Amino acid sequence: MRRERRASLGRSSSWTYMKPRKLDTALSHRSGRHHTITGGQFRGAIRLWLHRRERQTDRSGPSIFVDELPEFPRAALEALREPLETGRILISRAARQAEFPARFQLIAAMNPCPCGHLGNPLRACRCTPDQIARYQGRLSGPFLDRLDLLIEVPVIPPRELQDLAPGEPSAQVAERVAAARERAVARQGHANALLQAQDLAAHAALEPAAKALLERSAEKLGWSARSFHRVQRVARTVADLAGSPAIAAAHVAEAIQLRRGLPSHGG
Ligand SMILES: [Zn+2]
Repeated sequence: MRRERRASLGRSSSWTYMKPRKLDTALSHRSGRHHTITGGQFRGAIRLWLHRRERQTDRSGPSIFVDELPEFPRAALEALREPLETGRILISRAARQAEFPARFQLIAAMNPCPCGHLGNPLRACRCTPDQIARYQGRLSGPFLDRLDLLIEVPVIPPRELQDLAPGEPSAQVAERVAAARERAVARQGHANALLQAQDLAAHAALEPAAKALLERSAEKLGWSARSFHRVQRVARTVADLAGSPAIAAAHVAEAIQLRRGLPSHGG
């Protein structure tokens, strides 16, 4: 990677936008504050960018938005598993190894199928079940295991869109989020996402009904221990958003719903 490309990554806003299309287009192709990046440059770019950003942001790190997630090479996505889990990335070159800080928030978008219309009430999906399975299967179970929220955003017909009541203003939501985060920091010194498994009992204890619900769901959906703990952390955040010191069954139920975005990957 040339020096000026490295510099352009360092100068970006707190968001980086990555798109897998145009595989021969280099990082220099940019529109506004966004970068278009090839799959092959993905890992190196993230490493360099995070290394620079780590010193400027809080412990949750910057946000990276990845569009058309299944279009990225599987090896590049699998390489994200380590930093997503540990907040660090180990790079091996010949006989040398170096570890870099790599704490970041990954936000990704994808279509439900190659044509994009699966589940759309207005347009028929043209894909075969096999094509849909192959497309969604590009994201491995272990990769999805490391994501906290998997949310389906359904198509809303234009007529219904016009009838929708105006939602809560973003500024108001931001206030609630900031208050919830303050609660988490006051309780354990950091955000809920950074809670280690051994600290969950102390800081994210579940009420008996909540525990029973989570255990039943984990069994039914075949969740790993990692998924189980992730849902528990999300339930802690749902309770914090509601201003509740205890985690009740309703908070766990909401956290479970926030993990069911991909039908073929219930967790
Ligand atoms: Zn389709």
